[in-house]
Amino acid sequence: MTMGRTSGSIARRHDDLIPGDVLSALADLGVEVLGDDGDNYKLRCPAHLERTGKHDRRPSCYIHSHSGQFICFSCDWAGSFARFVAYMQGTDSAHANAWIASKGTIGRALRLLKGDDRHSEVEPGEPVSEAQMVLFTTPPEAARRKRGLTLDACEKFGVRWDLTRPRRCWILPIRSVDGELLGWQEKSKRHFRNYPDGVAKGTSLFGAHIDFDGPLVLLESPLDAVRLYSAGIDGGKATYGAHASRAQMDLALGMADTIILAQDNDSAGRSARTQLYYSYRCKGSVLKYWNYLDTGAKDPGEMTDEEIWDCYDAAYTPLRRRLKQCAA
Ligand SMILES: [Zn+2]
Repeated sequence: MTMGRTSGSIARRHDDLIPGDVLSALADLGVEVLGDDGDNYKLRCPAHLERTGKHDRRPSCYIHSHSGQFICFSCDWAGSFARFVAYMQGTDSAHANAWIASKGTIGRALRLLKGDDRHSEVEPGEPVSEAQMVLFTTPPEAARRKRGLTLDACEKFGVRWDLTRPRRCWILPIRSVDGELLGWQEKSKRHFRNYPDGVAKGTSLFGAHIDFDGPLVLLESPLDAVRLYSAGIDGGKATYGAHASRAQMDLALGMADTIILAQDNDSAGRSARTQLYYSYRCKGSVLKYWNYLDTGAKDPGEMTDEEIWDCYDAAYTPLRRRLKQCAA
């Protein structure tokens, strides 16, 4: 093990203490808690004025009630509870940790012993536990607003949020057809991965459990299905990537008379769409193409509600004559 500067600072960050009771620690710091979504406390960002020159009028700062991690969605100030304490008290990390220790702490090691750490790695193929999902938080309002997602839609699809650094990302659960949790996708602008490695994401569709009327809209990205639902279209299901497996297509064909193929508007998406069309056009359901019209959007997630509805309504069947041949 090296004793370099980098490893030292990483070790310090992991050693930051977490108060046993985040809420009472906040009260002791004189912080007014303005809301509570069950996972996070909402407050005015104390560093906002210094960082932006403006007061945080619409409270943008969230502190996780369990981990003490915080983030301001407006000015991006974020970090461990010790960093928050250090700022509030105008002191350094060592003094902040000493203050937290005096309040009573929950050590990271203790959490691990309790099986309470969501980042403990599992072996490929090993089941992940539902308890890991509970430790993620409700997606904060500011993050939802950026992507046009309603709270109702996020809850319907079981979408969660990882508040801890360096991830701070969306958590999109991957479940089997029976609803068993297999893992999840982690997604942010900078970070993407499937967890655990090799999770069997091709065995089901994201959103398969949600009832719908009308066409099934087959999407690449889970967040696009949540976006469609937020716009009022309940038939969005996602394949967790451009490739749709045989099992996923069989599932989709069993769910709807009409399937709108809405892969991304790029070369990988168009090629996947064409392959799906030719492979499955005679399997009993009508296959249509999502019509991107002149939106220039890469995927439905980039569209306004109105554009989503226009493109949905304009879905078209690429080869009508071929379809008639199927029927004959
Ligand atoms: Zn701020």
